[in-house]
Amino acid sequence: MCGIVGYIGYREAYPIVIKGLQRLEYRGYDSAGIALYDGTNIKLSKTKGKVSDLKNKLEDEISTSGSLGIGHTRWATHGVPNDVNSHPHYSNSGDLVIIHNGIIENYDALKKELSKRGYTFKSDTDTEVLINLIEDVKKNEDTKLGKAVQIALNQVVGAYAIAVFDKNKPNEIVVARLGSPLAIGIGEDEFFIASDASPFIEYTKNAIYLEDEEMAIIRRNKGVKVRKIKDDALVDPYMQELQLNLEQIEKGGFDHFMLKEIYEQPEAIRDTFRGRLLTNQAIIKMAGVEDNMKKFLAADRIIIVACGTSWHAGLVAEYIFEDLARIPVEVEYASEFRYRNPVITGNDIVIAISQSGETADTLAAIKLAKSKGAFVFGVCNVVGSSIARETNAGAYTHAGPEIGVASTKAFTTQITVLSLMALRLARAKGTITSSEFRHHLIELETIPAKVEEALKSDGYVQTIADIYKHATNFLYLGRGFNFPVALEGALKLKEISYIHAEGYPAAEMKHGPIALIDEQMPVVVIATKKGHYEKVVSNIQEIKSRKGKIIGIVTKGDKSVKELADHVIEVPETLECFSPLLTTIPLQLLSYHIAVMLDKNVDQPRNLAKSVTVE
Ligand code: GLU
Repeated sequence: MCGIVGYIGYREAYPIVIKGLQRLEYRGYDSAGIALYDGTNIKLSKTKGKVSDLKNKLEDEISTSGSLGIGHTRWATHGVPNDVNSHPHYSNSGDLVIIHNGIIENYDALKKELSKRGYTFKSDTDTEVLINLIEDVKKNEDTKLGKAVQIALNQVVGAYAIAVFDKNKPNEIVVARLGSPLAIGIGEDEFFIASDASPFIEYTKNAIYLEDEEMAIIRRNKGVKVRKIKDDALVDPYMQELQLNLEQIEKGGFDHFMLKEIYEQPEAIRDTFRGRLLTNQAIIKMAGVEDNMKKFLAADRIIIVACGTSWHAGLVAEYIFEDLARIPVEVEYASEFRYRNPVITGNDIVIAISQSGETADTLAAIKLAKSKGAFVFGVCNVVGSSIARETNAGAYTHAGPEIGVASTKAFTTQITVLSLMALRLARAKGTITSSEFRHHLIELETIPAKVEEALKSDGYVQTIADIYKHATNFLYLGRGFNFPVALEGALKLKEISYIHAEGYPAAEMKHGPIALIDEQMPVVVIATKKGHYEKVVSNIQEIKSRKGKIIGIVTKGDKSVKELADHVIEVPETLECFSPLLTTIPLQLLSYHIAVMLDKNVDQPRNLAKSVTVE
């Protein structure tokens, strides 16, 4: 995920593009770059860091003005954040320039093919492969830029929003989208391009939002022509009148980043699958696992180290790895692990999980594990982060930037990556049959749509939030795969609403917490159909006998819990091992709505920081 901006018209492009990038920085902020074209010279400048770093760099450098410009703020997926990997990228001839948001899944095969034809690559990005593919098509087919982009995109698998221009065509920008957003602002004799409308809101209220598999050729003084990428059909685009203000646009129309990120989960999970979950071929591809398969197969056990929400994802992974791949797993708080004297051997695999990849305790735990000879595998969201660099191998979650301090989409994408790993290893070890494996893949593929369905409970969750917002304590109960979800639900509530909450394995209630239950105590119970359903229903009976208020998270169509509980929130049915990806959704929404109703600072709760870089 990243932000792209472009301008073609009669004004200086630089101030428009740079200001636009600042507004889009919430979409990605590991590097930034800009290309300006005055019809004679292209001025291209890029740097690792924030848009402000780019601005400082350009303050001294800027010599070329231009009324055509494109800019990019990056969230790396291929290649660490550094100056070279930053966008824009030139084609080999230096004629074509591109910015890209998304992932080209088949970049490796395309790169090999282009290399054979003499193309060279400066960066590690998938984007540089695409611009050279476009150049190659343009040369071979002797065609114009628009046609070349179209032919090239028909060879590409993946997701993109791109803007490309050609040095030989100073009055034209070509854009296209599949899976990543792209808006075109239509002014008087000027056009704007951006990932959302915030960069051009003060210039025009008229915008065309490209649909998936559409491209547009934007010509100075002429206009915009939209076509279908596949069949070349001309499209009559719908021109929208923008009603939103700037802040609303940055948050995608949501009131808070946290809510936006909760709603981004279906897409974030799809992005995390991309190129890895190949259901039709019945395979899972994960380079970090594949390259180290011998180590994984020989491992005596896996030790997961993490903090906070990532630790909860680790607990879910413990259940999944043990169940599917039959590898013993221990889950440790990184902060404890690093300061005791843990028994670690060269046959251990340590998996470190961290959204930011900068968590100080997790980093220290990694260093300790490495010093004792363990092989360390990282699961983080930020490409090129310290943990990504420090580990022997790893797999990224492709959740895009998470701005809200309370983690939501990072949690579900961590579980997604760990589920893919567990399945891949289970297949390699033969601990599940090929038909079970295929069945799991098919089911996993349905999860994003099921998350979408789970999000539909939002209105009802809001009603429940209103009833219980003044409670001083909450209890969250779950069993098996959903015990960690109970912990995570309680943590979310504590973090943003400052209400005390405890998460417990449902059966442990009778060993203590049951004493807390009275008519004031809301108890959230995850009671989905598979697993230990009957046992959990008995636990619910015990709560009811003590007059606790029961909020059940149940499988769609459930009857038994409905009879006992004060409220039930339904989630779609799935395999038990994937159910945390669904049951966690209403719990995120519940904490969010309670915090909003209590007028708390949802995105920046007191005393907390997004990335905990201190121990
Ligand atoms: N895949 C591209 C890269 O890693 C674009 C990432 C983005 O969307 O920022 O450079």
